[in-house]
Amino acid sequence: MIRDLELAFIKIHILYHADKEAVFGVGLMEELASHGYEISPGTLYPTLAKMEAGGFLTCETRTVDHKQRKYYHITPEGRDLLDRMRQKIEELYREVIRQ
Ligand SMILES: [Zn+2]
Repeated sequence: MIRDLELAFIKIHILYHADKEAVFGVGLMEELASHGYEISPGTLYPTLAKMEAGGFLTCETRTVDHKQRKYYHITPEGRDLLDRMRQKIEELYREVIRQ
């Protein structure tokens, strides 16, 4: 159960960061770890692929230090979803935290 809830938060982090700049797997894992989320590549990459298949992210391969790295950008649909989630976070925060 905690994993389902955390994965939802993780997806919101991904949308938020992909809205600011292109993101990649290892960078996201470090960012998420700084918030206390431990996510393995075996969970993160399928999550990114699902978000791409859903039309919320686009993927671009760049070569960095002779290695291929996949960078993800937010799409207009991803931005709409992020905006809708922002409203829900605000609502949830008002109820659960501020009371
Ligand atoms: Zn974050």
